[in-house]
Amino acid sequence: MPLTDGPGHPNQQFEPAPDPTAGFLAQFGASDESSEAFSPTPRGYQPGRTKYVVVIGTVMSGLGKGIFSSSLAKLLKDKGLSVAPIKMEGYLNIDSGTLNPYRHGEVFVLEDGLETDMDLGTYERVLNQDLGRRNFVTAGQIYTEILERERRGGYLGRDVQMIPHVTGAVKMRLRELAMTGNAGKPCDVVFVEVGGTAGDYENGFYIEALRELAFEEGPENCCFVALTYILEPSILGEQKSKAAQLGIKRLMEAGVQPHLIACRAKNPVTEKVMQKISMFSNVPVKRMFSMHDRASIYTIPDAMRDAGLDREILSMLNLHPRVNAVQEDRERAKWNAFTSQLAAARTHKVKIGVLGKYASLRDAYASIDKAIEHCAVALGAEIEVEWLDTSDVETLARAKELVTRFDGVIVPGGFGMRGVEGKIRCVQAARLERIPFLGICLGFQVAVIEFARNVLGWADAHSTEFDPATKHPVISELPDQKKIEGIMGGTMRLGGQDVVIEKGTLAQSLFGGADHVRERFRHRYEVDPAQIPALVAGGLVFSGRHPKHPIMQVLELPVQAHPYFIGAQFHPELTSRPLTPQPMFMGLVAAAIARREPGFAQTELGRRWVRSANSAATVTA
Ligand code: GLN
Repeated sequence: MPLTDGPGHPNQQFEPAPDPTAGFLAQFGASDESSEAFSPTPRGYQPGRTKYVVVIGTVMSGLGKGIFSSSLAKLLKDKGLSVAPIKMEGYLNIDSGTLNPYRHGEVFVLEDGLETDMDLGTYERVLNQDLGRRNFVTAGQIYTEILERERRGGYLGRDVQMIPHVTGAVKMRLRELAMTGNAGKPCDVVFVEVGGTAGDYENGFYIEALRELAFEEGPENCCFVALTYILEPSILGEQKSKAAQLGIKRLMEAGVQPHLIACRAKNPVTEKVMQKISMFSNVPVKRMFSMHDRASIYTIPDAMRDAGLDREILSMLNLHPRVNAVQEDRERAKWNAFTSQLAAARTHKVKIGVLGKYASLRDAYASIDKAIEHCAVALGAEIEVEWLDTSDVETLARAKELVTRFDGVIVPGGFGMRGVEGKIRCVQAARLERIPFLGICLGFQVAVIEFARNVLGWADAHSTEFDPATKHPVISELPDQKKIEGIMGGTMRLGGQDVVIEKGTLAQSLFGGADHVRERFRHRYEVDPAQIPALVAGGLVFSGRHPKHPIMQVLELPVQAHPYFIGAQFHPELTSRPLTPQPMFMGLVAAAIARREPGFAQTELGRRWVRSANSAATVTA
């Protein structure tokens, strides 16, 4: 039976696998639950329609599987292929919502509200593509699904086993993504990233499921990539391949023969080392890639292309007929313009302070780091970022001393009391000293508290998160409001929401005149509606609101009062992408430049991002 292209697929000459009906799935009646080879597939699934690229780490974790996988996915996406990444985590948590950012890096919130780990952020940024629940799976999700089905009697008296049931559930998730990964339609390639390393207990069932998947899908449909690490002990002064060999062997013991090997290393991997690994792993040198340290990860897609990795993948997976060369040229030109700007000399120099809680661990604010980098490239600025813990900022004088060292400050999101009073003082200092300020989520709430205390004179104003008994609960939890909004289960407001932007405000000029934008939220507390009239009467401007309910989403001070003072109840860092930096970050960096170079506001770039302050201040301390 010939396969047909899914509706809307741009490349009509799609070649099916030689004879999919002769494949394993059909031969053994594999969706029959009484069969030993039980392997469920979604209705209408066509083997060979979607290809799979699987990236598995060896030697150690944290080598950048996500960066490798997203760069390769980008190369194929630029060629007109539709791609869908999925990260498979071995831990038993259902999502990353309860993970400590100190241990696991930031919690990245997707448009559909799923709390995932920071790697999903890498995929979204590199691919410039929104992801959702289908792109993230944990062992906890898989086991929950199996156990719930078992309780419902869903296994018809069979003993429920790791194989075929758990592995079957994993394959099902991958095939469902294959069928829907292109905005609800079948996609060309699913990129699977397995968390951890080959040989870990907790990801063993994923590797087994992928081995089975490759067999069932048949030849030319799955490609395995081993990401490994080349040691270069300074005492020897040369690269050693033994750890890599052993790591790859571990993968082969699990029944997986890699087709491609990516070698992480400090320096470019030598031919000699590649040959050695090649001999022990059955992978030709032309299918090896030196992923050595680089100034920027954004140059990796082009480096892969130069090494011929894209052609190798296309040949292995028989994807050449689906390539759109015109689109590739266009996308490459855009990306290369970005990477050459990245490498170009920067004319402006600024210093930004991020006043948070996890100052010692930048992964806890990975997306903020990236959002600043996107602006630095767009505005040609060299930005020195300093991360500070505010816990010991005990006086306004100290706060002033601290914030005036910077050309702009960010107070990021957070939970818990530690450092909050210090943040309030820093925001007050930034307001009084006219230092450009961006408050994010908790940083937005802190700005409201600061305004209530020091402008309205409500000395005990606070958030009920930190002082439930305060007489001035300017930030509070409003469960009833959440009920109206239809927030299910958990008590956090999560994911993408529309924000209506007030006319004639700084926010509106930043967002290019838009009357509404969509941004991502992760919070439990918000501005108490009962306090809004007093805050507004005192001079605080709420320039972004919920379309229906009295939920305040953006605040600002009039530009006459402060050159750049803005806050968002949402997380603007989550939607910043290399080629489309988030406007509130752009405004901050532009205002920071203008602070050092008054002429900047008059330049074309500056005019777009900085509004000039022109009349007397309306808000005073
Ligand atoms: N703790 C605050 C809340 O729950 C802010 C959360 C955040 O900054 N992400 O509303």
